Amino acid sequence: MTAVLLAEDDEAIAAPLSRALGREGYTVTVEQSGTAVLERALEGNHDLLILDLGLPGMDGLEVCRQMRARGSELAVLMLTARTDEVDFVVGLDAGADDYVGKPFRLAELMARVRALLRRSGPAEDSVIEVGGLRLEPAARRVLLNGSEIILANKEYELLKVLLDRAGQVVSRDTILREVWGDLDLRGSKTLDMHMSWLRRKIGDEGPVAERRIATVRGVGFRLNTD
Ligand code: CA
Repeated sequence: MTAVLLAEDDEAIAAPLSRALGREGYTVTVEQSGTAVLERALEGNHDLLILDLGLPGMDGLEVCRQMRARGSELAVLMLTARTDEVDFVVGLDAGADDYVGKPFRLAELMARVRALLRRSGPAEDSVIEVGGLRLEPAARRVLLNGSEIILANKEYELLKVLLDRAGQVVSRDTILREVWGDLDLRGSKTLDMHMSWLRRKIGDEGPVAERRIATVRGVGFRLNTD
């Protein structure tokens, strides 16, 4: 599960943003004061901090500086109403990884969140293991309960996209972009065909409710972690 710490004292922003993050499959913790945020961030249980610059107690810049001074490498996406260049530079200087000015479009913020999580996430070739499925990128090998299964190229890429975001819904567009690099395949059955071959190879053809790869109607697919 990807855990996001949201530091925002304005309920009108925190509430919808928190809901949107939840819909993307992230676990969200909301904190409103700078000191509480710093404490939470240092616990080391989160994957990303969305940090408002104007917080009561201790402002976002100071939270960021102190986190970095204490060795935290938590990815930080800074939010601020002040969008001039100076704040941008100061924010990055304080140790933020990226920056979004308010007001922001939810879709843009989500895209930045995903990009940041991807950059700060596990290295490209680290082994991913979920349930009995093990993917070894360096060897380009997949094991199911300890036995190797042979996947065609696109099946492997498809499984990797789902495993990289295990527990989260991955949209059909994301899959088409990352596996085929081609959104023009939207209207075709290509993705569904490969998905059914992949399911067959990983023995995921039981009753729909028990499937490891769940179909999220109208959205995409989710590889369940339990
Ligand atoms: Ca604020």
